[in-house]
Amino acid sequence: MFLRELSASIDTIKGAGPAAVKALAGAGVYNVAALLSRYPRDWEDRSHPVLLKDFARYPSVCTIVKVLAHYWFGAGQMRTLKVYVEDESARAVLVCFNRPFLEKQLRVGNYYRLWGKFYYKYGEIQSTAFDIEALGEDYDESRMLPDNTKPGNPGQIFPVYSLTAHITQKMLHKLIRNALDQYGKNLEDELPRDIRDREALMSKAGAIRSIHFPATLAALESAKKTLIYEELFYLEIMIGKRALERKTSILQALEQGTSVKKESGSMEFTPMQKRLIERLPFQLTSGQLSAIEEINFDMDASYPMARLLQGDVGSGKTLVSFFAALKAVDAGMQAAIMAPTELLARQHAESAARLLEPLGIRPAFLTGNMKAAGRNNLLKALSRGEIDIVVGTHALFSKDVAYKNLGLVVVDEQHRFGVMQRSAIMAKGDHPHLLMMSATPIPRTLALTVFGDMDVSIIRDLPPGRKTIKTHLARQSSEQRVYDFVRKELASGHQAYFVYPLIEGDESKDLKAAESMAERLGKEVFPEYSTALIHSKLDDEEKRTTMEAFRQGSVKILAATSVVEVGVDVPNATCMIIEHAERFGLSALHQLRGRVGRGIDQSYCFLVYSDELTEDGKKRLMIMLENSDGFIIAEEDLKLRGPGQIAGIEQSGYLNLGIADPIRDADTLVRARSDAFGILETDPGFLEPEHRMIDEVLRRAPPFSTVTL
Ligand code: ADP
Ligand code: MG
Repeated sequence: MFLRELSASIDTIKGAGPAAVKALAGAGVYNVAALLSRYPRDWEDRSHPVLLKDFARYPSVCTIVKVLAHYWFGAGQMRTLKVYVEDESARAVLVCFNRPFLEKQLRVGNYYRLWGKFYYKYGEIQSTAFDIEALGEDYDESRMLPDNTKPGNPGQIFPVYSLTAHITQKMLHKLIRNALDQYGKNLEDELPRDIRDREALMSKAGAIRSIHFPATLAALESAKKTLIYEELFYLEIMIGKRALERKTSILQALEQGTSVKKESGSMEFTPMQKRLIERLPFQLTSGQLSAIEEINFDMDASYPMARLLQGDVGSGKTLVSFFAALKAVDAGMQAAIMAPTELLARQHAESAARLLEPLGIRPAFLTGNMKAAGRNNLLKALSRGEIDIVVGTHALFSKDVAYKNLGLVVVDEQHRFGVMQRSAIMAKGDHPHLLMMSATPIPRTLALTVFGDMDVSIIRDLPPGRKTIKTHLARQSSEQRVYDFVRKELASGHQAYFVYPLIEGDESKDLKAAESMAERLGKEVFPEYSTALIHSKLDDEEKRTTMEAFRQGSVKILAATSVVEVGVDVPNATCMIIEHAERFGLSALHQLRGRVGRGIDQSYCFLVYSDELTEDGKKRLMIMLENSDGFIIAEEDLKLRGPGQIAGIEQSGYLNLGIADPIRDADTLVRARSDAFGILETDPGFLEPEHRMIDEVLRRAPPFSTVTL
């Protein structure tokens, strides 16, 4: 049978007493299948003990030692046991913090196998994190390896499980071993034969046994490979199914409803789009062109588009979204373009007015801060269909906003929005098309998982003539040199941003820092140039006028918090000075740097750091110095921080995989995806209905966040 069908309860396992059954139930493990699916979190190769003196060669070592003496130090609660041990090469001290019970377990004169991390401290070899295994007092030192045949003695490659209350390693070892003996032999393979052959995967029975108790390191690797592939395969099956469901459920809805959509798409430009192209002062890049073609094709097809448009900062995504909006308008529908900040929404609205109004389009701008009268008129016009394209913040989906015929939703800087917000705006239309845009490039691997059922367009090129931004690191103490450089740029007519960090939870203090900096910049450093300050606490009108003054060039220096991080576009600005750059994350740094280099002039980014630089901070700055490609920076970010930290995907369930890691296992993921999608193409019912339980792996994960169609 299949592993998941091993529904026999825990108490049927030999040696499972009531205490163990209860403890496992507490951890949500009720049956044999669940127990065997609890893979170890690590494995320790205890088959090769090393000499104590060589500890530094390995992160953790297995040694065989004899206990020499016990010694207590500290008093009261702090009383701590030290145990002196030795082998033939050296002596070491085991510091037993919070483990007074080791006094009884580590008997003077007896031999133990130790597994732990060692280091030098106060001239001694010490360990505070170690495991022990008793070898007895008559252990024969001349035989390096202990007897593994003794019942209850773990194998030489030792599984280490994550523990929860009342569960011990020993308990899991025993029960899993017994469960494998009782039930493990007849496990059936689940993956299609040809895939297993091609990938050289183990049998399911073999993989499950070897993941828990590998005979060799090679067997362990093979088991991991098998189970990783399997997990990713099922993940992609689920994602593929969601994509299919989206398409079919919507097709059904369309059949019942009145919507008229063509069967097949066309990449032809619409009349409005052609007119916009004629009016543009530049040529579309080939990346923009193909993104527009893909969007046109999608928007003609019989089910709504769900497309993610990725492109580095400055690649011209806004314009692509305008083309998408024109496509909707040409089809007699409205488009809503949503941006995460007021500043950005306003900028888009202004561009829309500039570029689209001359075509006869009626654009509008909607935010939460509008006066009641204006807002009411606008809402009326929207619901009557007198507005074609509305640009705004999340106010676009407030309760009182109704559309006549919402055909397209564009979400700019999508990672800034929560799941709820996206679905709320989608609900304003009848299966509107969805275009999400991201300037924080989503690493390919995440794009395949979190956004796995969306189609993806990537703009790889930047508009021509853009020069790589020159990035420099500068110590705070040598800031004067940075100022001198910026002065030259200002003298030649360019503009500069100075950005200060705004750390959450301490906004007032940081704000003051930005304020006083703006003042210092204006009064002391650059008295000859006009300086303005912008931050999120300013009221709307003030933000607008400040931004406008900067855009027009009457303000030369913009001191800002990271509000300018997303989207702001002022091509004449050529200097970006980021103060306390070490406090920003990589994606913020990349975004901020992307505010310059938007025109044809050479631009510069100065990352000014203070002396208290952490290792991570240093790494981030180096990555910024060495890379300009947002995709590479995003991958590095992922490596540094782990996927859970990447904005917008925390709730995605992406992290809940058991053994696979889509980043580390990216290549496998790609193969598993193509296998899974290939199978679904010929057999959309794959794994159903009798295989329903397979999403056990994914059960803990909430539905994929972006698939709220
Ligand atoms: P992002 O992809 O970061 O959102 P924007 O849409 O803000 O980029 O575009 C950046 C700048 O590039 C804008 O000033 C825009 O007008 C300009 N731009 C867009 N497309 C082109 C193009 N094909 N050629 C030249 N400039 C372009
Ligand atoms: Mg943008």
